[in-house]
Amino acid sequence: MPSTTLGHSAPHNLGSARSRISDRFDTRAIRAGQDPCSATGATIPPIYQSATFTLDAVGSDKGFDYSRTGNPTRLALERQLAALENARFAAAFGSGMAAVAAACSIVRAGDRVLATDDLYGGTYRFFCDVLARNGIATTFVDMTDLRAVEAALEDGVKLIWVETPTNPLLRVANIRAIAGLKRPGQILAVDNTFLSPFFQNPLELGADLVVHSTTKYINGHSDVVGGAVVVNDADLFAEIAFHQNAVGAVPGPQDAYLTLRGAKTLAVRMRQHERNALSVAQWLEGREDIERVYFPGLRSHPDHELASQQQRGFGGVVSFRVRGGAERALAVARSTRLFNLAVSLGGVESLICSPAAMTHKSVPAERKEQLGITPDLLRISVGLEDARDLIDDLDEALGAHPAT
Ligand SMILES: *Cc1c(COP(=O)(O)O)cnc(C)c1O
Repeated sequence: MPSTTLGHSAPHNLGSARSRISDRFDTRAIRAGQDPCSATGATIPPIYQSATFTLDAVGSDKGFDYSRTGNPTRLALERQLAALENARFAAAFGSGMAAVAAACSIVRAGDRVLATDDLYGGTYRFFCDVLARNGIATTFVDMTDLRAVEAALEDGVKLIWVETPTNPLLRVANIRAIAGLKRPGQILAVDNTFLSPFFQNPLELGADLVVHSTTKYINGHSDVVGGAVVVNDADLFAEIAFHQNAVGAVPGPQDAYLTLRGAKTLAVRMRQHERNALSVAQWLEGREDIERVYFPGLRSHPDHELASQQQRGFGGVVSFRVRGGAERALAVARSTRLFNLAVSLGGVESLICSPAAMTHKSVPAERKEQLGITPDLLRISVGLEDARDLIDDLDEALGAHPAT
């Protein structure tokens, strides 16, 4: 057995090798990878804060030898993450960007990447400033335009990179249709961070690889940065696991434990995130001083139909344009009391940000303009506070800075 898969297929005393503990999400989130410890009976996977593992004899370990290669706490998380996507394999990383980099390790100099045009800012920077230096060019395309996708899938495209819904305008790409356009040898990767595995499982829609920033909904408490790659194909997983061990951007056991703990409540959190987001989005849509609200759960959203078919829910991120332009938008963002002015999303606490000035700061100005990421746009991550308090908070902030 190659050492790259050590810890994933080796026998050990934690977790179940079965990723399909139940067809039901809530049960998998709480049970997969989390059998009681056979040595001590510990109900909860212990934090194995150990860099190295003592051997009985040379060549005879208990499934682990060194924590970069494999760690029991991380393995418990990896099994849980695989189960959340109803998949066979997951590899955990020290950040979402490390997971993006691992997924991109399957492309070689001379290959092309075809990516969603309004991509997460960090992924955009990685494609343009890191991959490009290594001889890998990226073509950007509007993934909601299937004709444009088909035309762009010329020879040389190895990796198709889809984010859906996109950030910050929440456009929805048709994963099944894009998978249908794929040619032999092309890999379809979906960044599933915005919906989490609770609302969407891209592998079941024809994707080959799923990436998560577990920093967001999966951990859900804004206290850990982490990432994951999830796949079904064993050869693809061997490449990802090789990269994980060879490059070494792994999460420590403490972070793996916190993420595993957070993910147990993903289902209950996502249901409430969505409920609160819909309340806030509908309330915003009813206001005269709001130009436009972007939330796929609203009938007014251009991709509402597709989102209703492809997704099991709409998530917790809402964007909106205020009347009164950039100045008003920034004034509102700075005067909310409950919505913290901060980047990131997916935590139990609500956040507000200006995509143009914050999350998409590194995207060139004319490109932002093209994509509609203008300074009058605000993005909120609707948390789990009482929705009435969130609405009151926005009401006060908008009222304190009226559109003139
Ligand atoms: C945050 C985010 C990332 C990057 O993840 P980090 O954990 O911040 O490294 C990638 N994709 C999306 C959609 C994100 O929101």
